[in-house]
Amino acid sequence: MKNFHVASWQHLQDEILPRDAVIAIDGPAGSGKSTTAKALARRFNLLYIDTGAMYRALTLAALKAQVECSQEGPLVELAANSILELKPGAAESTVFWEGKDVSAAIRTPEIDAMVSLVASHPGVRKIMVQQQQSLGRRGGVVMEGRDIGSVVFPLATAKIFLHASLEARVDRRFKQNQQRGIQASRSELTDDVALRDKKDSERATSPLAIGPDSIVIDSSAMTLEEQNQACALACLVNPALDLELDTDLETGLRELPSNYRFAYSIMNAVSRFFGLKEVGCEGKAVPRGCILAINHVSLWDPPLVGSTFRRFRVNTLAKAELFKVWPMGSIFRWVDSIPIKRKGFDASAFEVASESLRDGNNLVIFPEGTRRAIGHPGPVRNGLGILVQATKAPMVPIFIRGSYGRHPLGSILSPLEVSYGPVIRWHGLEALLESSDPKNVSRRIAQLCLAAYEELQARSFDRYPQTEFEINTGKKQLKKFEARQKKVFGR
Ligand code: C5P
Repeated sequence: MKNFHVASWQHLQDEILPRDAVIAIDGPAGSGKSTTAKALARRFNLLYIDTGAMYRALTLAALKAQVECSQEGPLVELAANSILELKPGAAESTVFWEGKDVSAAIRTPEIDAMVSLVASHPGVRKIMVQQQQSLGRRGGVVMEGRDIGSVVFPLATAKIFLHASLEARVDRRFKQNQQRGIQASRSELTDDVALRDKKDSERATSPLAIGPDSIVIDSSAMTLEEQNQACALACLVNPALDLELDTDLETGLRELPSNYRFAYSIMNAVSRFFGLKEVGCEGKAVPRGCILAINHVSLWDPPLVGSTFRRFRVNTLAKAELFKVWPMGSIFRWVDSIPIKRKGFDASAFEVASESLRDGNNLVIFPEGTRRAIGHPGPVRNGLGILVQATKAPMVPIFIRGSYGRHPLGSILSPLEVSYGPVIRWHGLEALLESSDPKNVSRRIAQLCLAAYEELQARSFDRYPQTEFEINTGKKQLKKFEARQKKVFGR
């Protein structure tokens, strides 16, 4: 596996890391995540959050209360009815269970042996992930764990997958244990770490794996200093690439063909009329050759989101049926849309779309394939992952809320917003493909896109809580849309 090349990024400056940065560090046990996460927190003046400590604290409480670690229900009840506090700090994060500092008690071989089982329950993870998100949503944090980049903070500024050979990790744990006065032989440690790797990477919910967008760092042969330096530079790669983007909106506008000018001016008028708000893209340009992955709730989504593109051309993958309806077909062709058959795999549409991305055009797709119920985005279909693997094109997740075309008053009954996520670049794709088959990789990409929608939706709900109209309509739509999904895609 190729390692991240530090030398080529030496010129990067610490100052380009935004103040509200979220740094996600994932990796197996003993890979050096904690040490490096603390070093990064000091270097970039961020708070350090150790999510493993939360699963460990629950495991300790379960063992004390004689709760069976294989039973999800009692564990969820214990987690939901106890007060778990994580006090993040620049150097250490202290864990309190029911007000008692358990930071030392959670690092014993007994806890090591049971924690992965406790962490494998989806109900337990749901509670922990919510707490972790509320700790870090405002940014300014380095968070380490197993699912930070994929689930907890899918929109993180930087994602690092830090790993090392089993031998190197056991060696580090052995030395760490000696310092703490904990007795365990190397062979016991090898068995424990290998078993924990297995459990963490084979569980059904949020398994440990390289994120397709993570920068992968193998620290087996690195000194601690080298490891910290490589990770610090990895934090700066995306912000540096963002800085290089052309933000000159005027030039883009001048180069826009007349059909786009006309189409965008109509879209702008419509979106202004409905009071559409744009979040996360103010003054920023989308790089060329990106997949613009938009969630789908209404037939009004394309023109409303389209109004935010303004200065650049896009190709849009749109369902083939629409091209047969006059005058839609002509209009769609006029603005470079590509017809796609939704049943089965439309290879020729994917080929045209991939060519267009490779030529540097931006491509709009609705990766859910059809409209979804309000407030319930996903699932995302595998087409997105196929396109990403074929082109390596970066992806910008875009979330629309409030475009409920069938209800003329919909936009008044709920806020109308288009939120942009960051540019997601596929740093870890090659490494992931070495250990996973393409179908599985597509699934991971789909899960990441859905997690991005959920996060953008959660942030939108933070700004304006979900309205009655949205909750009720979403509930009513759920069944209907699932039935339609089955009809269109056969499952
Ligand atoms: O990082 P640490 O070794 O303290 O994590 C202990 C255990 O907690 C891991 O082996 C894993 O099973 C679980 N964990 C997790 N998700 C996280 C952090 C830790 O499942 N985000």
